[in-house]
Amino acid sequence: MSSRKSVVSIFLIATCAMAITVSAETRTKVQKTSFGKTDGHEVFLYTLKNTHGMEVSITNYGATVVAIKVADKKGKIEDVALGYDNVDGYVSDKSYFGVTAGRYANRIAKATFSLDGKTYHIPANDGENALHGGKVGFNKRIWEEKDVPGKNAVQMTYTSPDGEEGFPGNLKVSVTFTLTDNNELRFDYLATTDKDTVLNLTNHSYFNLEGQGKGEILPTKLTIHASRMTPVDSTLIPTGELKPVKGTPFDFTTEHTIGERINQPDEQLKLGRGYDHNFVIDRTKPGLVETAEAYDSKSGRVLEVLTDQPGVQFYTGNFLDGTSHGKGGNNYPHRTGFCLETQHFPDSPNHPKFPTTELKPGQKFMSTTVYRFSAK
Ligand code: BGC
Repeated sequence: MSSRKSVVSIFLIATCAMAITVSAETRTKVQKTSFGKTDGHEVFLYTLKNTHGMEVSITNYGATVVAIKVADKKGKIEDVALGYDNVDGYVSDKSYFGVTAGRYANRIAKATFSLDGKTYHIPANDGENALHGGKVGFNKRIWEEKDVPGKNAVQMTYTSPDGEEGFPGNLKVSVTFTLTDNNELRFDYLATTDKDTVLNLTNHSYFNLEGQGKGEILPTKLTIHASRMTPVDSTLIPTGELKPVKGTPFDFTTEHTIGERINQPDEQLKLGRGYDHNFVIDRTKPGLVETAEAYDSKSGRVLEVLTDQPGVQFYTGNFLDGTSHGKGGNNYPHRTGFCLETQHFPDSPNHPKFPTTELKPGQKFMSTTVYRFSAK
């Protein structure tokens, strides 16, 4: 190449690189607004946008996904996540809309577990059991927000002190929320501890793919790549069995609407008042795998869930009762949102045969879940 040509190409490469840098900067501009005050502390709402007009808002109160605005098949943008207009709603919330649940998402039987020969007690908040980390879980904590340079993302960090809600060890946890240009909302979890502890983290978004506040989710079509589930007792604690779903209303290995079998006289459906069960994800490889797909034929919106976790709790909003004071005056009656909570199995600390939820000093808990949206 002549030296003139190489000067020209260097110039072109430099110009392209500048253009790329500028567009990346435009995308990474996270909008930050006040979300109100609680206990004298101001909390914020961080909004990520992508090139398809998709928007995701997250608050540092509970590291909570407040809104997911995404196009339907005609390009109409609608918010598909249940939630509240300001922090006050989340302070009084009992449904865990959009929150990061922890230190132990889902249930721990009798709010008690043993680790290294010691017994630990968590404040019971679901009958005699602990649900989503006890009385004041991660969803009721103020997290610290950090920029993620060069990424269309926000990171929330929280240090849960040794003994908080009865759990051992100072636990440092972060959740990075990234919005990609493929309409993916990605959650990257990272945690470390200075004493042996147990840990189970999930995002607790409730979806209504037609739009939050638009009615029952029973017509939504669902596939879950799970040929087994963990049946529960009358307090929704797993019995320990991994039960094949074949021939039961829990078989979503092929597509079914959520509502098709929800009222069948099935013992497990009765105990859950609908679906409120952990499914054992079929796994052919480690890492991120397709876990579930939900499709609302009216709007055409599709939600695909991918995770590296062993389980997914499918919950059909059976405890919603229309008293929520949600976004835009919506009060979210029975079964108007569904959750696909990727996680370890419920009550794992009391089930040595379940995949372990123990975390030891020197280990790093790392996990990823993706909610991918499209329309057809
Ligand atoms: C649980 C439900 C509970 C809901 C809201 C879900 O993860 O499985 O039983 O009602 O969270 O707390």
